[in-house]
Amino acid sequence: MESQPQELNEIHVIVIPYPIQGHINPMLQFSKQLASRGLKVTLATTPAFSSKFVHSEQSNSISIETISDGSTLTETANTKNVDAYIKRFDLIAPRSLTQLIETKIQLGHNIKCIIYDSSIPWALDVARQFGVFGASFFTQSCLVSLIFYQVYEGVLRVPIEGPWRGVFTNDTPLLIEAREMPSFVYEVGLYPALEKLVINQFTNYGQADWRFFNTFDHLECEVINWMQSICTVKTIGPCIPSKYLDNRIPDDNDYGLSLFQPETDACIQWLDARQSGSVVYISMGSMASLGDKQMEEIARALLKSNKFFLWVVRASEENKIPPNFKEETSEKGLIVNWCPQLEVLSHPALGCFVTHCGWNSILEAISLGVPMVAFPQWTDQPTNAKCVTDLWKIGVKVRKNEGGLVTREEIELCILEVMEGDKSNEIKSNAKKWKNLAKETMEKGGSTSRNIEEFVAKLQN
Ligand code: UDP
Repeated sequence: MESQPQELNEIHVIVIPYPIQGHINPMLQFSKQLASRGLKVTLATTPAFSSKFVHSEQSNSISIETISDGSTLTETANTKNVDAYIKRFDLIAPRSLTQLIETKIQLGHNIKCIIYDSSIPWALDVARQFGVFGASFFTQSCLVSLIFYQVYEGVLRVPIEGPWRGVFTNDTPLLIEAREMPSFVYEVGLYPALEKLVINQFTNYGQADWRFFNTFDHLECEVINWMQSICTVKTIGPCIPSKYLDNRIPDDNDYGLSLFQPETDACIQWLDARQSGSVVYISMGSMASLGDKQMEEIARALLKSNKFFLWVVRASEENKIPPNFKEETSEKGLIVNWCPQLEVLSHPALGCFVTHCGWNSILEAISLGVPMVAFPQWTDQPTNAKCVTDLWKIGVKVRKNEGGLVTREEIELCILEVMEGDKSNEIKSNAKKWKNLAKETMEKGGSTSRNIEEFVAKLQN
């Protein structure tokens, strides 16, 4: 027998993230929070990811099911194929998701809600087809979502020119330059399908039964208030493994589904041998791809700063590391293809995080109180970087020269500024403040914890 009667009685939700690492991580983490409060959760994802799911005690309450994205190989979206991938996924995945839910219902599962990535608004139609609730899950910051919302509504015209004051009041006079806006608003036409995808998140925005945002109230209060004036939103972040915030899910120290294999032992042993606060950690996330020259500047900056460094360079980017650099710097640095980022960020040896400013990396660094050097590349990253430096004041940002390159001198200057410069103490003390607020929001009585509990209660009644 495939299902036990008890399983069939459980309130069941289907979670469907966009199949890229930065969307799967927070939605899987949210799934664990729901499961720990008594819901049965099935996470539906594509073969490339479902095959990487690591079963553990924490994730046993979550089932992983495969849906098709039409690829015969285990293909994932990357910076080169992203537009074609989006088109194919939108063509194939709706049918595959429908079949999955049909099968579950035929087996007697008590499906109550589909929690879908806001990037796939068609999932709300699937929910309606089965007469179940639909909840849209936004994996980016509320500010970035607000910008896309205003573009969707025609309030903001693209390509944007000149600075944007947004919805900020005099309490936080944040003026966002055109270049600090999400790249799709500023440089239009480079990724047509992706641009359409981020704007179309709002096609049925008001019709969803819930709108979840992976952020927390204190972090983006003015922006969240503004979004609340359109329709109710629920903050449910930071969606990071429980060990690092509320600790309500025992031993939950990892997302548990990674496309790349982390070199955990090598990283942790290396960090264990370093002094407190002495290491620069640098990573550009799962998708960003830098040019050869930029990689050379980073490499030289790491050498010049004379700091210990842990540098993540994905296997596909490795050929851009300058020849012999690894050997020349083996005393000072460790270069790996992928690391256990949360373990690294929480290690006492860490001094600063040079980051591409992906939203998960930002939330992780905030939750662990790590000061940052913001090194944004594309999509929402320039806007996230702006918040890091000018709103939360927990880091500095690198500046490009006229040729569009961030020079070795600039990178070195930023690293030193965060680790030991005039602003260092202020940045570190702000980072501590945000870390405490992130923890509070997840703990019992905190706004995120309350929002999750209310949702679960609504499904259970
Ligand atoms: N990550 C990791 N190991 C690495 C680099 C990144 O586990 O070596 C994780 C990181 O913790 C984060 C995710 O990959 O959860 C990257 O998501 P983010 O939104 O920061 O950037 P993206 O990859 O979507 O550009």
